[in-house]
Amino acid sequence: MDPYIDIKKEFLEIKDDLYARGLITPFGGNISVRCPDNPNKALVTPSGVYKKFLTPDQILCIDLQGKMLEDSPYKPTSETPIHLAILRARPDVNAVVHTHPVYATAFGVSGLPFLPITSDAVIVGSLPIVEWTVTGSAESGEIIARALAGQQNYVLIRNHGLFVCGPNLPNAAGFTDMIESVCKEIVLCKMMGVNPRVLPDEKVALIQELIKSHLV
Ligand SMILES: [Zn+2]
Repeated sequence: MDPYIDIKKEFLEIKDDLYARGLITPFGGNISVRCPDNPNKALVTPSGVYKKFLTPDQILCIDLQGKMLEDSPYKPTSETPIHLAILRARPDVNAVVHTHPVYATAFGVSGLPFLPITSDAVIVGSLPIVEWTVTGSAESGEIIARALAGQQNYVLIRNHGLFVCGPNLPNAAGFTDMIESVCKEIVLCKMMGVNPRVLPDEKVALIQELIKSHLV
């Protein structure tokens, strides 16, 4: 019996949801989750597998240095060094979702400012962008882990995609979806030839107060 079958089930459900929304594509995007029984181990998406058909036995168990902890014909995703750098740097984080969402990626490419246009946008807050580096290099891991220091849980990589981390997979996937929706709304305004009207400062402050009261 696979000791991680329950967390793998959630992993695949989250993957299916992200896939259905077009946030993860057949070969773009990947997921990692810290093993519930050992903070130094993680489950991660394999490389080169068509994501729609991913099965529990293809999800790989590795340590936080990237060493495979079981025999498998598959290799961890090439973006594993970024996932592991985040999990090493943020003990409070248990899940990392990396996607290539069309609208958020367009933000990273164009440098459009992320604006407080809705309460979702205020909840997201800031959406920092780091420059493109070779995918999965140790350097890319360090840059992204630095951008995700403190309480910042998401970052865009210019000309690439989005990394979101969180306390669990539903949280990281939920914020991925929220960020993509806000980016889409801003891009649609631009496509309509108008600048999106942002919420005034006092309404942003009100929403921030409401968020705080719901988080404590
Ligand atoms: Zn990627």
